[in-house]
Amino acid sequence: MLNRIDLRGSRRDPRGLLPRAQLDVSVAVERIRPVVEAVHQHGFSAIREATEKFDGVRLERLRVPAEAIAAAAETLDPEVRAALLEAIKRARKVHADQRRTDTTTQVVEGGTVTERWVPVRRVGLYVPGGLAVYPSTVVMNVVPAQEAGVEGLVVASPPQVSNNGLPDSRVLAACALLGVDEVYAVGGAQAIAMLGYGSDGADAGDRCEPVDVITGPGNIWVTAAKRMLRGTVGIDAEAGPTEIAILADETADPRHVAADLISQAEHDPLAASVLVTDSEALAEAVEAELGKQVAATKHDERVRTALTGEQSGVVLVDDLEQGLAVVDAYAAEHLEIQTRDARQLAMRVRNAGAIFVGAWAPVSLGDYAAGSNHVLPTGGCARHSSGLSVQSFLRGIHVVEYTEDALRDVAGHVVALANAEDLPAHGDAVKARFAR
Ligand code: NAD
Repeated sequence: MLNRIDLRGSRRDPRGLLPRAQLDVSVAVERIRPVVEAVHQHGFSAIREATEKFDGVRLERLRVPAEAIAAAAETLDPEVRAALLEAIKRARKVHADQRRTDTTTQVVEGGTVTERWVPVRRVGLYVPGGLAVYPSTVVMNVVPAQEAGVEGLVVASPPQVSNNGLPDSRVLAACALLGVDEVYAVGGAQAIAMLGYGSDGADAGDRCEPVDVITGPGNIWVTAAKRMLRGTVGIDAEAGPTEIAILADETADPRHVAADLISQAEHDPLAASVLVTDSEALAEAVEAELGKQVAATKHDERVRTALTGEQSGVVLVDDLEQGLAVVDAYAAEHLEIQTRDARQLAMRVRNAGAIFVGAWAPVSLGDYAAGSNHVLPTGGCARHSSGLSVQSFLRGIHVVEYTEDALRDVAGHVVALANAEDLPAHGDAVKARFAR
């Protein structure tokens, strides 16, 4: 079922040889550009048009009424409520530990630099809702924003035909549990544009004011819109169609490996499931398991499309050292390590959104209730970006304080560097302070 890439005996740089989707974000940007530009220019009318086209819903208003959010919380299945509350508790514990404290460095006598960590004012939190709905993503977005101290939290999630044009009721209930009341029934690229540029609405009370930062995962269209808006607003990372890479040796249980590959393929036909192994026997056994398990899974068609797509595959390597080089080159959103000494290998990985160690930490645990964040960089972005965290909502501002004596002491160096850069007015600004 999986494409096979045999790197055994190869000394080539694995980067160009690994499975990747053809429809990448840069291609998708060109497709959604007209939607983003129309929302920028025309606001509500363009959002309505795109929503009708892509979600099959005729929007009367952008904003979800407070009563609908409260009603969703009241009717929430008790089992789902308990699970969400546990997920919130665990996520809060981890993200509270990420809070930053201001630091003051005494550079010289009379000269200090204080780094103040200041939350952004208003954030737009995207919660997907196309092929699946994601109340868990409300938790993953809202908890770090709250722990960072953000005051204005705005959620956008696609309207559902099955919920009278409102976002999924479990998404709304999760918002209620977390105390978020500004929720918009808008999804896709049009939601990202609405959050970034702001928009008028059905009436004055239905406006969406622009945000400072947009976070959250989404499909290729959402991810493309986030790339377009970067710069207009802050963007957490490109958290697009899900990826799982599993580095496994012959000690891994093929039933677990197959189940975990399927679990992430279930998100999206464009999801990527990649097995990297030095054991041909394991690769064969996983293939056999996939044959059985895919047939029995609920979203078998979507899973099959993802697993047989060019973005998924088995990569055969000589040994786990080469395996490590391959997973580093791939930079997966989720990396599972199911090998002997899994922890030791995990500590040597350089590029991954999150790492799941050993047999008892499947990615599904991290999707819901490990306490870790599930909004993670995809498409190789784990080489340079982190998953969502408190830090995503903070800015560090340097506050510089020098006395007259401390400035006098360093004035000569400032003037020398200013002259070296042919910017003498910079030096003059310092000299002016000491001229009699
Ligand atoms: P979604 O909300 O991301 O996308 C649905 C929206 O896409 C719709 O509202 C619609 O307006 C728009 N759309 C649909 N078809 C379109 C088209 N042809 N052109 C333009 N816009 C279109 O929900 P989804 O589709 O269920 O996708 C969720 C995604 O989020 C999956 O790819 C999943 O793997 C990913 N995900 C990623 C992470 C991460 O951290 N990387 C975490 C969770 C989920």
